[in-house]
Amino acid sequence: MRKGLVAANWKMYGQREDNAALISALNAELTEQNGADILVCPPSVYLEQIKALLADSNILLGAQNIHSEESGAYTGEISAGMLKEFGCTHVILGHSERRALFQESDGFIAGKFTTAQAGGLIPILCVGETQAQREADETTDIILGQLEVVLQHAGVAAFTNVVIAYEPVWAIGTGLTASPEQAQEVHALIRNKIAEQDTAVAGDIRIIYGGSVKAANAAELFAQQDIDGGLVGGASLIAEEFLEICSSYT
Ligand code: PEP
Repeated sequence: MRKGLVAANWKMYGQREDNAALISALNAELTEQNGADILVCPPSVYLEQIKALLADSNILLGAQNIHSEESGAYTGEISAGMLKEFGCTHVILGHSERRALFQESDGFIAGKFTTAQAGGLIPILCVGETQAQREADETTDIILGQLEVVLQHAGVAAFTNVVIAYEPVWAIGTGLTASPEQAQEVHALIRNKIAEQDTAVAGDIRIIYGGSVKAANAAELFAQQDIDGGLVGGASLIAEEFLEICSSYT
């Protein structure tokens, strides 16, 4: 039985005072054992602040990126080991904004994946197709291609403690959401691909959906057989909205 995961991706938003108010509202409501694990991924400079605010909380702490090397002359970059020291359990990898804006390739992301695991972090590996790729009927090839590079690099056994996030690029920050059926179809595709190599790993792996998840659509998405929670951007910055999304996972 897979436990759900609802993860907040704050992207490059936040301010100390706003962060404190948001975390305090989440702490007040999410003290009980939730149906899903709840994870907050703030910008790295706020990890120390959020770690302190989550000291007595069940809410997990994660980050939005790492470099593929363990350390070195990479000005401006942050390593898996550093994030571990700051109390992170998870790290988002291969987000479409990083793929598109920072030209991150599948190979580079695969390197980050194994470095994250070596550093004791659980990767949240994002995959997704653009609008043009969907319209050209390339969704299956794109998703399987992105997954295949990491599978070949890390091996299926490495997917034992991993989260995959299906995030259609056309649904991120646009207000457009994949229908529950569209999302379920891709989640099943991902699980079946992993099952070809290891059915036990495929059965256990958490595959979460991201792309304009909000209180109004979360329950329907989370009810799908292969959707094990959500990766939430914009709506995770609004306490009531994010709390309602979290409680939509039953
Ligand atoms: C994201 O950034 O991962 C995301 C899904 O954003 P949004 O929920 O705003 O579409």
